Amino acid sequence: MGLRKILTDKDPALHKVCRPVVNFDGRLHRLLDDMRETLVEANGVGLAAPQVGILRRVVIVDLGDEILELVNPQLLETDGEQEGAEGCLSVPGKYGLVKRPNFARVRAQDRDGQWYEAEGEELIARCFCHELDHLDGIMYTEVMERFLTEEELNADEE
Ligand code: ZN
Repeated sequence: MGLRKILTDKDPALHKVCRPVVNFDGRLHRLLDDMRETLVEANGVGLAAPQVGILRRVVIVDLGDEILELVNPQLLETDGEQEGAEGCLSVPGKYGLVKRPNFARVRAQDRDGQWYEAEGEELIARCFCHELDHLDGIMYTEVMERFLTEEELNADEE
């Protein structure tokens, strides 16, 4: 177990399409354990493998009561729309205004290769979409409307 370094936007690894996971072995389990530790330490909501320099289709999402591990995830269904502030551990200190579906249902494999489905609304739906985009090399800054200003961010906190 160990913390992994979170790459920032300038790193080419964040702009590449990731390959599917084929081996559900100790190496994958170590990656997932390290990603969990890294996410908790960074106080984030989600983390994708390319953010720690691994170009494989692996993301984790903190649901609040548990951290979901999604290997080879696919978006099955989306519904509605939400517009709000979105940030990324790879773009520290900034937030953008991003439109996302208000509901998302995904299918993914767990760390042992078993397929399962998960769904969520609002922040969870936003997080699923954001993290899955990372696996195709897409940063939220490429799909946002604009960065939020300091004034807007401060107003949100009040
Ligand atoms: Zn991100």
